[in-house]
Amino acid sequence: MSRPSDSDLIARDRRRVWHPYAPPSAYPLFEVVAAKGVRLQLADGRELIDGMSSWWAAIHGYGHPHIEVAVRDQLERMPHVMFGGLTHEPAVRLCERLVAMAPTGLERTFLCDSGSVAVEVAIKLAFQYWLSLGRPERSRLLTVRGGYHGDTFATMAVCDPVNGMHDFFRDVLPDHLFAERPTCRYHDTFEERHIADLMRLLETHRDEIAAVILEPIVQGAGGMWFYAPGYLRRLRDLCDEHDVLLIFDEIATGFGRTGRLFGADHAGVSPDVLCVGKALTGGTLSLAATLASGRVCDAIAGGQPGALMHGPTFMANPLACAAANASLDLLETEPWRKQVAHIETELARQLAPCRSLGAVADVRVLGAIGVVELHEPVDMSVVQPAFVEQGVWIRPFGKLVYTMPPFVIADEDLAVITKAITSVVSSLA
Ligand SMILES: *Cc1c(COP(=O)(O)O)cnc(C)c1O
Repeated sequence: MSRPSDSDLIARDRRRVWHPYAPPSAYPLFEVVAAKGVRLQLADGRELIDGMSSWWAAIHGYGHPHIEVAVRDQLERMPHVMFGGLTHEPAVRLCERLVAMAPTGLERTFLCDSGSVAVEVAIKLAFQYWLSLGRPERSRLLTVRGGYHGDTFATMAVCDPVNGMHDFFRDVLPDHLFAERPTCRYHDTFEERHIADLMRLLETHRDEIAAVILEPIVQGAGGMWFYAPGYLRRLRDLCDEHDVLLIFDEIATGFGRTGRLFGADHAGVSPDVLCVGKALTGGTLSLAATLASGRVCDAIAGGQPGALMHGPTFMANPLACAAANASLDLLETEPWRKQVAHIETELARQLAPCRSLGAVADVRVLGAIGVVELHEPVDMSVVQPAFVEQGVWIRPFGKLVYTMPPFVIADEDLAVITKAITSVVSSLA
């Protein structure tokens, strides 16, 4: 459905294009023509300060010269080759670096093209681990409510049952186990009761469970919830006690967003399998990875068929690997820890006044993530243009208005974002 004010491109889009989680008539839609630093440039000439980092990804801002040069160099050499039977330096170097920077004990990396696939691979690793050990009955997953792990069927089955539309897809989704989400906030002291529900499920179903999967410290798209590191330490012990694998989905939390390199680093805990994606290439190209511990790798190598049974066509794409290596260079050389800590302080201070607004249920901040949770879901057809009017790109979903800006954002720009959030949220009361 086109509107009188739609440009030609928007009208063409409406006839032929799907957008994420939106009907073809969804309104509004903005044409973006360029992105540089922390700014998106719209076709009508307006510039928006980006509060979303293109879904957690553009941590260094858009068009960073170090990443662009690396991608251009790689483009001239070899944009892509198959990874079956061939290897190349950008991929090997990236896998070495990911193993070196990840929590200890993770030894081998599988490169793929999106976060959902990285989680699929993690799930496959867990199932194949138990098959290799002759324990096919270990075929279920245990997770917590409020999670988000991707949009493919295996990953959807471990997303929050409500947000993940489990009722809608009831007949085609595998049946996994859901504990309540961690009830302790990030700064709370962890207590045994915070994990009691998960513990009960683990004890009852231990002989069916292949792995526990969850997002460490920050639950992203499933509810933007931050929980205490002590929960993860206890969970690691419980998994060891019950001989169940532990998978951390760090696709949103990885590469500094929470103030530490990985969410797991808040707790000093290592999972058996770790997924990364999103910010891996600094938001330039699609790439994700699944890292596995020596225990998992050895069991799979020692079982039948001895290989991890997965292999995407564009696995280890050299352009994407070059971008990822360049982004990791920046994480080594740029003061991101200081930047994220500063963003955390400023978001906490500047969003605090939202607490007293009638529409607001909760305000929480961790690292470079600021969340204003409302009592009622927002009307996107009203709220989205309101943010654009204020010169910022903020894309709420449901009851959550949130920002995770690029780490390089300047104070003046961050202030525009928090002012826009405060002003739009006050207008909802
Ligand atoms: C975004 C996300 C995914 C899925 O990644 P895609 O690249 O969108 O497939 C999985 N897990 C978490 C925690 C995510 O934030």
